[in-house]
Formats: sequence, C-alpha cells, structure tokens
Amino acid sequence: MIGNHPMDIYDVVIVGAGPIGLATAIGLRKRGIENILVIDQTRAFRQVGQVLDLLPNGLKALKYLDNQAYEEVKKTGMGFMNPPQSHDDKNSEISQKQNPPKNSPKWIYKNFQGQIIRSIPLGFDHWLKNHGEGRVSIAWYNLQTVLRNLLPQDIVKANHRCVNVVDELENEYARIDCICNQQIKANPYAYWEDGQRQDDQPQDLDNNSQKSITKSLRAKLIVAADGINSTIRRVIYKDSFYSDFAQPEYSGFAAISCREITDIPHELQTQIAEQFLQDSPIVTIGDEPRMMLFRRPGNPFGYILHLALPCESLEGKSGSSLINLALEELAKVDFPHVLKELVRLSPPTNMQQRPYYIHRATTPDTKTQPSWSAGRVVLVGDAAHGMPPFMAQGANQGFEDALAVTALIANIAETNNWDNREAIATAFKKYEDLRRPIMTYIQRATLTRFPQSSDEEWNKYGQQVYQRNFDQLIAALL
Ligand SMILES: Cc1cc2nc3c(=O)[nH]c(=O)nc-3n(C[C@H](O)[C@H](O)[C@H](O)COP(=O)(O)OP(=O)(O)OC[C@H]3O[C@@H](n4cnc5c(N)ncnc54)[C@H](O)[C@@H]3O)c2cc1C
Repeated sequence: MIGNHPMDIYDVVIVGAGPIGLATAIGLRKRGIENILVIDQTRAFRQVGQVLDLLPNGLKALKYLDNQAYEEVKKTGMGFMNPPQSHDDKNSEISQKQNPPKNSPKWIYKNFQGQIIRSIPLGFDHWLKNHGEGRVSIAWYNLQTVLRNLLPQDIVKANHRCVNVVDELENEYARIDCICNQQIKANPYAYWEDGQRQDDQPQDLDNNSQKSITKSLRAKLIVAADGINSTIRRVIYKDSFYSDFAQPEYSGFAAISCREITDIPHELQTQIAEQFLQDSPIVTIGDEPRMMLFRRPGNPFGYILHLALPCESLEGKSGSSLINLALEELAKVDFPHVLKELVRLSPPTNMQQRPYYIHRATTPDTKTQPSWSAGRVVLVGDAAHGMPPFMAQGANQGFEDALAVTALIANIAETNNWDNREAIATAFKKYEDLRRPIMTYIQRATLTRFPQSSDEEWNKYGQQVYQRNFDQLIAALL
C-alpha cells in the first residue's frame, strides 16, 4: 500500500502525470490541498512525446494555477527557441520548432502556387502584445519534467498503472486499483547493471504478471488525467448510458510523415526551395490535404502530411504502401508536382503514420452529452476532450480544465464538503458547464479549421480563445 498507512485516504489522487495531471497537482497544493498523490503508468519518466505550442490562453491558465510553474515553463520554452545544437533528431517537429529563422521567426502558410496566404509570428512578445500573454514551444517531456520538479518527489509515482476505479455510494472514498511491477528499482537512471540500463528492459507489464502486484489506493476525489486512451473514462462509461463514448473515436484525419529525405536531385531541391521554403526552415502548404514541409540543418528535407482519410485505408500500411497512399491523396487535389516528386523519393524506412482520435465535446446524436464526471471521479484534459493537434489547443485547453477543477476542489475543501456527494456533483457540473461550450468551439475549429479561412475569422478566434479572462471565469464558477 502506498502512503503512510494502509488505511490512508488521500484527498485527491490524480491518475496521469502528463502536463494536465501535474498542473492540477501544483494548483491543488498552491490552494492548500497537500494530501494528494499523482500516479502514472510509465515505468520511468523518460524522453517521449512531441513538441507543444503553449499559447496565451494556456499560459494564462498556468500562471493562474501557479506563477512559479508559469515562469519555469516560460524559461524552458524560451530556451527551447535557441537551444544548443542537438544531435537527437528523433522528432522532426522538435528540430523545426526549435530552429525558427533567427531574425523574424514566423510560421508561413502558402497556397499550391507558393504564394503566402498567412504568416504567423512565433515570438513571445508578438503574442504578448496582441493577446496579453506570450507563446512558447516546449517538448512534452520537458514540460512534464519542469512541472514534476515543482512537486515533492514522493507525491509523483511512476510504475502505477490504473486498471480500475470503484466508487461505492456507502463509502466516503473511491478506490483506485493499479498494477505495479515489483522489479522496478527506485531510480533506474542512477546506475548501470550487467552492462544494460534498467530502462532498456522489456516494457510490457502484463507479460510480467508474476512480478507485478496490484495495489489499491483510496481517495475522496479522483482526477482522471490519463490521456486520450483513458482507462478511467472506459471504466466509468462502461455499462452506462455513455458506453458508446468510452473509447476515443477516429477523427477522420491522419498524419503521414517522412522525417528525412536526403537523396534529392539538386534541381528539385532548388525548385522546392525557391517556390516554397525560401529562407524558412518550415512552411505549411495547402489546406486539405496540408503539408508541413521542413528542411533541417545539413539539408535533408522532411514533411508531415495531414490528410482526411478513412481509418481503414491506413491499416497495415508502412514504408512504400504509405508513400503510395500519400501520392494517391495528393493526386486527387492536384498537389504541386515538385512536392509529389519529393514524396515519391521518401525512403520507405523513414515513413510513419498516425491516425488522430477525438473525444467529442458535443455529440450530435444524443440529447444528453457524455458527462465528464461520475460521483467522486472527474475527467480532465485529453481524457475528457482529446482531439487532433491542428489548432495546438490540447494542452492549452487542458490547463484551463486544471484551473477550473482546482478552484472547485479548493472550494469543496474550504466548505468541508468532501463527503457531500451533492456538493461534489454540483461542483463538477459547474466545471462542465463552463468548459463544454468552449471545447465544442475549439473542436469545431480543429476539425474544420474555419479560423484560418480569413483574417476576420482568425481575429475573432484569437479574441474568443487567446484573450479569455480567467478572473471572470473563476468568479462565475464559485
Ligand atoms: C503531434 C501532436 C502535436 C501536438 N501539439 C500540441 C500543441 O502544439 N499545443 C497543445 O496545446 N497541444 C498539442 N498536442 C496535444 C497535447 O499533447 C495533449 O493535449 C496533452 O498532452 C494532453 O495532456 P494530458 O495530461 O491530458 O494527457 P497526456 O499528455 O496524454 O498524459 C497522460 C498521462 O497519463 C498516463 N497514463 C495513461 N494511462 C494511464 C493509466 N491507466 N494509469 C496511470 N497513468 C496513465 C500517461 O503515461 C501520461 O503520462 C499535440 C498532440 C500531438 C499528438
């Protein structure tokens, strides 16, 4: 049993030490709620994940949660824009977002003819001036690490995979069952063993079932921040009116990418550079499909294509069959010839695919929308409303959730309503009533990209999303 005593009941257990779970924990401690625990299924915290853009609304919410967290994230994110040269090129987005053009960092959007249709400045100060808060790019793992380091070490536990939640009416707590692997050493990065690092060992906990144990934790409230494939969401929706929404739904969009193409005839390189890249290291071309074309230092090209595709068309596809699928899709819209040639030259071993999933904030077919809470359990971040990353709002919206939920839980604590199920239900309903309309708007923007249709729409979207006033929102909640 974790905790000091087998009968410990935590005030709050947060499942998932991603950005939103950790921000929630920081916000709760800041508001005086210290009897908390964050658990994560990862065997050890490691360098994983993509680069995130944190935009004014997300940064404002984080600042509201805890000023120190905001300052640390800002510092790490700003350093990220001009990092020391890295040789780890695993994630193409990382090296591109971290190396914007030195003089005027901008994200350029072009049409098929190579004309600029939009140019979005990337600098912190530009966003600060326009929206009252800046913008930073930060790798998921760096964000996790910065936030994790702001919490006492003993309240963030790796190697705890939540497999079940039970919330019985007669109990003054909910129970979380998790699987832990007993073989794991406390600090796998601290030493080498038998010539092999601990984190090189097999990952699959299930195959190691004899060495795994199940632990149960008790908490007055559970915050489910376990991401788009949320186990807790599956458990609380199973056998309920919402069972159709237990699993994420395919969004209709997928990415096909090639991280590096080196063998490109000189003439083609010149044509692509002159028509599309010019001095930029990254440019976005087209709307539907859309290509993020980039060039790394040393000249290799790469791309990420966002395509509207049936999920089945991706099944079992890799290497050359992915290249063929991409070319078929590009042919349908008469995509620029030089870019199709580039795709044709992609080395099959460098090809990747990624279907994007969604938990719709509003579903068209039901009168009642899937609730983001059940009894003592509340869903936040991607577990509540995960979506494709096209408007860069997943983590930003998650921080807004964290802010709302911490304010409401702090209020439950202040009014000593931990055992008042009605007060808890009212609090979580307020959270949903506040968050669902904006999430519905953001998901519509993500799936249709309507804000990018004109400057007027872009400005309206910026006002609605980036310039939110959290003083008013929190005042309305309490
Ligand atoms: C390619 C890409 C680019 C993106 N770009 C942006 C961007 O620019 N800006 C932006 O705001 N967002 C972006 N996003 C979205 C963003 O990454 C997510 O919205 C954000 O990470 C959600 O945070 P979270 O904490 O809710 O979930 P996650 O980040 O998914 O974290 C969930 C955590 O829960 C743990 N977990 C899962 N299941 C269990 C379990 N059963 N038991 C215990 N622990 C568990 C996981 O190990 C993980 O640590 C992007 C996403 C992708 C895929």
